[in-house]
Amino acid sequence: MKKTSVLVVALALLMSVTAFAQKKAKNVIVLIGDGTGLAQLYAGYEANNHFLNIYTMPHTALSKTSCTNKRVTDSGAGGTAIACGQKTHEYAIGVDANDKPINSMLEIAKQRGKRTGILVSCDVCHATPASFMAHVPNRNMMEEIAEFYLQDNVDIFMGGGKKRFDQRKDGRNLIDSLKNHGYEVVFNEQEMFNTKTQKIAGLFAENYMPLFKERGNILQNALTLTLSRLNQNNKKGFFLMFEGSQIDSKAHDNDYEAMLGEIKDFDECVRIALDFAKKDGNTLVVVTADHETGGLTINDDGKAGTMPKWSTGWHTGVPVIIYAYGPGSENFHGVIENNETFDIIMKAMK
Ligand SMILES: [Zn+2]
Repeated sequence: MKKTSVLVVALALLMSVTAFAQKKAKNVIVLIGDGTGLAQLYAGYEANNHFLNIYTMPHTALSKTSCTNKRVTDSGAGGTAIACGQKTHEYAIGVDANDKPINSMLEIAKQRGKRTGILVSCDVCHATPASFMAHVPNRNMMEEIAEFYLQDNVDIFMGGGKKRFDQRKDGRNLIDSLKNHGYEVVFNEQEMFNTKTQKIAGLFAENYMPLFKERGNILQNALTLTLSRLNQNNKKGFFLMFEGSQIDSKAHDNDYEAMLGEIKDFDECVRIALDFAKKDGNTLVVVTADHETGGLTINDDGKAGTMPKWSTGWHTGVPVIIYAYGPGSENFHGVIENNETFDIIMKAMK
């Protein structure tokens, strides 16, 4: 080979290696199954004719969920570890162990010019969504958490929790404030379909949204609409956090059938996210949990069916699983701490 052709080959090789190393995620979708451990997902898999979209995701890691002062965490400290990259004390929202505010990946994405979204089936001021957009020492400060939505860091947010905005102790009507900030505020699915802009507040219930069998496909439709609005004419990309919130609440109740419904809905939403990511090619999808709830085990009932057994009505300390697809997903492997999820996602995010 001539010297020049060797040089050309070497250059081409170098370029392709750099291109591979630089493959970054323009968009990031994080889907959190609150309280969703290995047994909850496997139960959902069995109930769904031995199929889960989540199980098709190529990369996995185990995540240890303890917080700074407890072996068994809550959704505040668990959500904050994922959202902000630091373990903190129980009930903390977007603050470190000394109650100092720390930026979330959603806020960092916003600072980088990306669009952002939060979709949940609980109250939009509940611990998990709050960890991505608020900074308070205690998750119970829900009216204070609602005020953080007026900082314009979240372009589209939908879920329950209307009463945090219009039935407040301070008498303020934050729904008017949201409208003044340019939000289209909607209260049901039809109004959501009629929205036109990329700034939407959907408050579909006073508290939590109803269970899957009553609420139908509203979350799946909200996710589809949100993905298309976040992606519309958008060069810089987006960050979206979706939570299957009520897997946790039904596991607290040890209500197996209702929990299966929530898992079914959550897994369908993962499918919608994966379909988007496969078409797009520049989207990282991460599915994880903040902790396990209920200490669920699955026993044999002697007839090839499952016999669920719960060991608690609270959370447990067993690790949860992270599933990932897309640019940067290969960095999820082994056994990590929950707050390392943040580092891996930030490394992947363009
Ligand atoms: Zn819980």
